[in-house]
Amino acid sequence: MGNENNVKTITHYIKEFFEKHPNEEIDHGKVVDYVFEFIPKARDPWRSIRKLYQEGWLIQVRKGIYKRVPGYKGHNVLTPFPKEIKNKIFKRDNYKCVVCENGVHNGYEIHADHIKPQAKGGTNTLENGQTLCSEHNMMKKRYETTDFLGKYSKRMISLANKNKDEKTENLFKDILEVLKKYGFKTLVFAIIPLVLFLIFLW
Ligand SMILES: [Zn+2]
Repeated sequence: MGNENNVKTITHYIKEFFEKHPNEEIDHGKVVDYVFEFIPKARDPWRSIRKLYQEGWLIQVRKGIYKRVPGYKGHNVLTPFPKEIKNKIFKRDNYKCVVCENGVHNGYEIHADHIKPQAKGGTNTLENGQTLCSEHNMMKKRYETTDFLGKYSKRMISLANKNKDEKTENLFKDILEVLKKYGFKTLVFAIIPLVLFLIFLW
């Protein structure tokens, strides 16, 4: 409240730009340029744009394209899972990361992750939750789910290839094929634990 007299923040200029262009689909590059006009040494302004989108102030039209609709509140502030739901998620997943199975049993930190991100309309329900370790939680957040699975599969393919493990290699090649064909995001993500389980069985 009233303490922006001297230093205007990156976020201030981002908001200013979008407010000057309401309801327009804007490439984030333009906004970044605008910020640099005022703060030449601005650090990661695109990250601040992303944050505004995650907070619901901006709408993401496409990758890198954002829009401000005056009065839009969207999903508003991201809220974590209520404790009760979180515990149910962990319990259902046996307190293990659904990707790598590290978890409480071997001293790994676990997180309740939104399968469909809140910024995309995902809700705080048990069905939309999954247990992830810190590493996979970070990976998931860094990439869109499909990208994540794609990259993960490619990594597995090259690893399996190195180990001359043809079964695993073919398995992940099949997954990549499915991804290319359908590109479904959350649904495919659910395949990972199944796949790891199958590998485990072999
Ligand atoms: Zn994990």
